[in-house]
Amino acid sequence: MPKLKLHWQILIALVLAVIAGSLSGREGALFGLRFYDVYVFLGTLFLNALKMLIVPLIVSAIITGIMNIGGGNNLGTLGAKTIVYYMSTSLLAILVGLLVVNTLQPGVVDGQPAKEVIGLQADTSSFMDKVEGKGAGDVVEIFLRTVPPNIVSAAADGQMLGLIFFSLLFGYFMAHIEGRHGQTLKDFWQAVFDVMMKITDLIMKFSPIGVFGLVAKVVSSTGLEAFAPLAMFFFSVILALLIHILVIMPLILKFVAGVSPIKMYKAMAPALLTAFSTSSSSATLPITMECVEKNAGVSNKTSSFVLPLGATVNMDGTALYECVAAVFIAQAYGLDLSFGMQFTIVLTALLTSIGVAGIPSASLVAIAIILAAIGLPAEGIGLILAVDRVLDMCRTSVNVFSDSCGAVVLAKLQGEKDVLRA
Ligand code: ASP
Repeated sequence: MPKLKLHWQILIALVLAVIAGSLSGREGALFGLRFYDVYVFLGTLFLNALKMLIVPLIVSAIITGIMNIGGGNNLGTLGAKTIVYYMSTSLLAILVGLLVVNTLQPGVVDGQPAKEVIGLQADTSSFMDKVEGKGAGDVVEIFLRTVPPNIVSAAADGQMLGLIFFSLLFGYFMAHIEGRHGQTLKDFWQAVFDVMMKITDLIMKFSPIGVFGLVAKVVSSTGLEAFAPLAMFFFSVILALLIHILVIMPLILKFVAGVSPIKMYKAMAPALLTAFSTSSSSATLPITMECVEKNAGVSNKTSSFVLPLGATVNMDGTALYECVAAVFIAQAYGLDLSFGMQFTIVLTALLTSIGVAGIPSASLVAIAIILAAIGLPAEGIGLILAVDRVLDMCRTSVNVFSDSCGAVVLAKLQGEKDVLRA
């Protein structure tokens, strides 16, 4: 029997997870063993395995990436193109979100602000201490973290921006070391990177099981009843994300890179499904790199620079979500948003989406910052908590897809010939 392609395996696991999760619920058990605990075990094991790779992968990918691009002009050109691509797609995503949320007005029910209908979720305590007291000044703090005072603790705390900055510097100057020592270092980092990709290969084989655990856990613990009052908000976010991933990105792929969007979806399917299940673009990074290099044919030189950067800095889905959520909360509080306020939302969403970490629910802190910027209390987030988990899964897939498209677009602009040829 021919072996089923990985993305089909993951898709089947996803369907089985939805069935198993809804049948077992949170309390279902067999011989005293709760199914829920099994889901958590499988999911956590997979997630841990992916996370285990993040620090060595990001560091070695960026260092080897810079080394292979070569310093000077090449790096400058690729760097500039990467930043332009990331900023423009995030901005497009935000504008799509703004258009949808202003058209559908999910925060207004029968002409009234929806706050009373929805009510703040009971359990807001878990996030309030994280977001309380956040203000517009926190945008600055996010960027301060780019230069970490202690690189080891930045790595331990998952502060990717700091790690990326250090690796960029390291790679750049390593490329300029002449002679035997320079070569030894280059060989070392190349070897570390190759080993990380091999381990990723292995972990990917287990992704259907991991995805099953992660998704079954979410399904068994998220009641459908939570969705009803928020249906319109949920629908607005999904619609905007779909417009971005099915209309805007394909147009960019077709007209800027000249490649087939359908081939791109196929190439990236395992990464998109993993992003959906893990809600973490950082944890998905190893798989994104595999797919972009092996399935989409982007050179290691381009992908190892563009993707780790993208996983942290480029979050189209997140930027879009922040904008829709902030406008929704404002509508639900009955606040009339002036043009200036909408502009503030767009700008803050763009800046915070750069600084937000690629981990589950990271947007919530960014939304608190936006709310503070337009003068709304952080508790407003309580309105959207019930559906945040599922929307996190969706926006993370969009984040990962945009990063991958970035690698393809930039590879094409750099004149690579093998991109999405097969
Ligand atoms: N979970 C998202 C990611 O990892 C970040 C967020 O929007 O919360 O890309």
